[in-house]
Amino acid sequence: MRLRKTLSRKAGALAAVLLPLVLACAIPHPRPVSPPAPTTAAKPPAPAPPASKPAAKAPKPPKPKRVSERAPPKLGTVLAKDREYVVVLAGPDDTLRSLAARHLGDASRGWLIADFNSIDRVAPGQEIVIPLTFENPTGVGVDGYQTVPILCYHRFGDKPAKMVVTPKAFADQMDFLAQNGYRVVPMVDIADFLQGKRALPQRAVAITMDDGYKSAYSVAYPILKQHGFQATLYVYTDFVGTSEGLTWAQLSELATSGVIDVQPHSKSHANLAQALPGEDLDAYRQRITDEVEVPRRLLAEHLKIPIHTFAFPYGNANDLVVEVVQKEDYRIAATVLRGGNPFFAYPYLLRRTMIFGEDDLDAFRGKLEVFRSQRLR
Ligand SMILES: [Zn+2]
Repeated sequence: MRLRKTLSRKAGALAAVLLPLVLACAIPHPRPVSPPAPTTAAKPPAPAPPASKPAAKAPKPPKPKRVSERAPPKLGTVLAKDREYVVVLAGPDDTLRSLAARHLGDASRGWLIADFNSIDRVAPGQEIVIPLTFENPTGVGVDGYQTVPILCYHRFGDKPAKMVVTPKAFADQMDFLAQNGYRVVPMVDIADFLQGKRALPQRAVAITMDDGYKSAYSVAYPILKQHGFQATLYVYTDFVGTSEGLTWAQLSELATSGVIDVQPHSKSHANLAQALPGEDLDAYRQRITDEVEVPRRLLAEHLKIPIHTFAFPYGNANDLVVEVVQKEDYRIAATVLRGGNPFFAYPYLLRRTMIFGEDDLDAFRGKLEVFRSQRLR
């Protein structure tokens, strides 16, 4: 259903752009049509001189060639272009990234071309429609809306347990994402999505790991790096440097890798949603503030990174905890309630889906909810 809508949208765009080109070819044109320079493709074409005022000494236009004499367009050329779309004939070296870099000014937006054309890769000779202005930052369609799953891991090791995923299972899960058109996005992109600032790929998914176990560095990091997947590591700072926890040096290496975004998961991993026995409201509020503020300061000092997201220990929060997290300038915060996040999700109680050691690939696939069907008309 959704694919059909995308295809019909693509067909409509193709027709809208190609029709003037077909007419231009069928009717003798006073000036030869030259494709715009690739580097300026994202800008609207320069307006043609007014037809009523031809240049006084314009050179005589070349005699239009008959159709049979016209050479087929070269691979890699722009077939047609208007303000909203450009149509290209893919060349042998073209990729989603190279087309996005050339026409959208940003190689990382290749997913936009993939989603619009319902393709995973570009083949030489393929007609590709590149939307120059199309954006759907909320991910809402007539038949439902996008939801973004945030996966939550803890530890990795050879003996699987509920909270321990084997290296092989993790590698298989990352392969599954790569081979099935999922696009891993960082948490900061989800913050932008929730504010209506950024469209996300249709099959966007985020990867997070909690606590700061050594296996996040020794097992998950190389596999993520191999795929070019970015993930967020939520660390509670009392754990850093302990026998099972990562060291500051390892965290620093992760934080500068471009693969792992290290973010706070409290100071002591206490359940923030519960006051201690005999603790009055002021003392409780102060304790939550310390649990939220101290790791923020320590991570920023040690790792020199911007802090923007918080994961509640055990996923637990209440109104006071959310209020403190908001006050401390976090943009989003995550629970461990299962499910995907639509654009209207509350940013301080985001859903995250735990991946367990016993999950096989079918169970894993079942946790990747990227779209919720709903008749919206
Ligand atoms: Zn935790």
